Amino acid sequence: MICITVLTIKNINSKIAVNRNMNKKAIAKMGFLNSIVSDVPVFLVDEQLMDQISPPKKGLNRECVREILSHAFKSSDNNGLDEGYFSDEEVEKVDGTWGKMEECRKVLYPSIGVYMNSVMPALVNKYTTFEISGRAIFICPERVKANSSSKSFDDIFLAVLFHEFVHAYISGGHSSLKYYEQVIEESLADAISFSRFTDETELFNVSKFLSDPGRPAEYTGYVYWTELSRHYPLIEIVDNLKQNRIPLPVFSSIMPFVMPFVVPHILHHLHHYVNAGKDRILKHIALRILMHS
Ligand SMILES: [Zn+2]
Repeated sequence: MICITVLTIKNINSKIAVNRNMNKKAIAKMGFLNSIVSDVPVFLVDEQLMDQISPPKKGLNRECVREILSHAFKSSDNNGLDEGYFSDEEVEKVDGTWGKMEECRKVLYPSIGVYMNSVMPALVNKYTTFEISGRAIFICPERVKANSSSKSFDDIFLAVLFHEFVHAYISGGHSSLKYYEQVIEESLADAISFSRFTDETELFNVSKFLSDPGRPAEYTGYVYWTELSRHYPLIEIVDNLKQNRIPLPVFSSIMPFVMPFVVPHILHHLHHYVNAGKDRILKHIALRILMHS
């Protein structure tokens, strides 16, 4: 059987025409995301409809995050988070810091793109002559345009498209993600999107967009993964998350088992790990991401 990768991009009510070559460009760059391209159609919508599908959300203000982190972790090196130790003090620090993080959710930002695990037909079908149901990605070209120049439009459109396809790939459509899980998923989606570009001009355009000071910290933290990807393939990390497991490479970067012969040392770490629990490890990872946002 021959499998053909087909990316469907249909305009619902956007006033902006997207380059006819966009499908080709996207497929050429998608890499592992190609495995789901045929399953998830992409629809273009104007700003009003986007706000109905995905109302503006509140994200983390970077200054506020920095302030909280600098108070919580001012004394030691390595940005203050201990490498892998989950002492009582550390646990208190991590939990306490997340308790305060809610105060920083004050950047109101409208969606440029959104992935939906299950579209509510009533929301969009009145605008279309075709039926939309099931999984779908919506992108607002008007907002892509507002975030790009005429020369960088295609790059930013693709960056948004790849970001949404990462959500679709992980998908569970984890609608009920905890906030620190959202920080992990959003930053990772941006990092994977960024990793799809190779040309210098594209990289410049896309990093300018991804690192824009107006974007919330959960996105701009993507640089954490970008650095980590020098040693670990991002696909390993995203596959672990997809299977609801702690991403192992991150596990070992937080807690490097560099000397396997020091067994008691490892057991000591493992003991803390097991006791720490998955949630606390995820909170720890999310804090490391925010430290680099
Ligand atoms: Zn996202």
